[in-house]
Amino acid sequence: MQSLLALSPAETEERVRALGGKPFHARILRKAVFEEGITDYAALTSLSKALRARLADELPILVGRELTRSVAPDSTTKLLIGLPGSTAVGASERERKPAAIETVHIPSLRSNRGATLCVSTQVGCPVSCPFCASGREGLDRNLTRAEILEEFVRGRAVGPLGRVVVMGIGEPLLNLTETRAALEVVNAEMGIGARKITLSTVGFPDRLAELARDEPRFQLAISLHSPFDDERAELVPAMKAVPVADVLRAGDDWFRQTGREVTYEYVLLGGFNDTEEHAAELASRMRGRRANVNLIPYNPVAGDRFARPDKARVAAFADDLTERGVVATVRWSRGLAADAACGQLRQQANA
Ligand code: SAH
Repeated sequence: MQSLLALSPAETEERVRALGGKPFHARILRKAVFEEGITDYAALTSLSKALRARLADELPILVGRELTRSVAPDSTTKLLIGLPGSTAVGASERERKPAAIETVHIPSLRSNRGATLCVSTQVGCPVSCPFCASGREGLDRNLTRAEILEEFVRGRAVGPLGRVVVMGIGEPLLNLTETRAALEVVNAEMGIGARKITLSTVGFPDRLAELARDEPRFQLAISLHSPFDDERAELVPAMKAVPVADVLRAGDDWFRQTGREVTYEYVLLGGFNDTEEHAAELASRMRGRRANVNLIPYNPVAGDRFARPDKARVAAFADDLTERGVVATVRWSRGLAADAACGQLRQQANA
């Protein structure tokens, strides 16, 4: 059955009318869902009981269910959401499991602002970065626009939203149509400005060109992780055919076309890509570019070979970049204690 979140405003009016309501009922419904995070028709008391009952039967608001909720001591909340349709990838143990994704609600440290919502765009991820849990089992499937919107509605139900980072499970540029469609609704009906929406990608140049043409209002972050071609190929396997220079050129094109500076993300892996040689080469790659570097100290993922650099090393790397003229900031992830930090998101509660 089609859910509310799969419909446009006009389609919603049509459906509501077909179920005996008026167009303004459709508007009340969408407003309640997107602006207030209402997920249950019972709470929509401004509609008649009879209409609510028909809607509940014929037009579900959500299609997934919350499998687990983990709240870290810093109030970051991670939702594991089960979606219809089981995962269809080989291993028999997994076949019985529902497709699942994670969404993270990160309250602002300044209480007067809404939270940041970190959303997933795919079930699994085909990029397979060795330091990230999300791609361990490859890609299962793309999310639909309705499923991506469901993350937003569930996130809004946790608390008001101020910013969006498309930095959950999956590579958004490999599911661009559905991701864009969902973000359009978020922008138009949840009141979140495009400048408050950041898309993070490993940086496929052709897709970035498409995004710059069609959606130049969003903020862009490109996951770089190494200034050296061979090492980036190892850290971001799906990009091994694309040299670092081409990724940076695509970032420059983005800046030229949109007027928005690119943020390059760099996960700091202790003893691996946090050496002085790396800082020097990264700085030389950034020279002459209007761009920022976000350093993300590695968050532990069970079973991989990487280590988190200590605080002093992180600070020294950042200082080194700054001295070399790079605008660099360190971003310590929130939600570490709930396995809700960058790189720790995966599809299964028990994985
Ligand atoms: N696929 C997109 C969206 C995911 S964004 C992308 O790669 O950009 C998630 C960010 O967290 C990326 O920059 C990713 O490289 C980073 N990340 C992944 N695993 C991490 C880990 N274990 N510790 C810290 N950051 C990690």
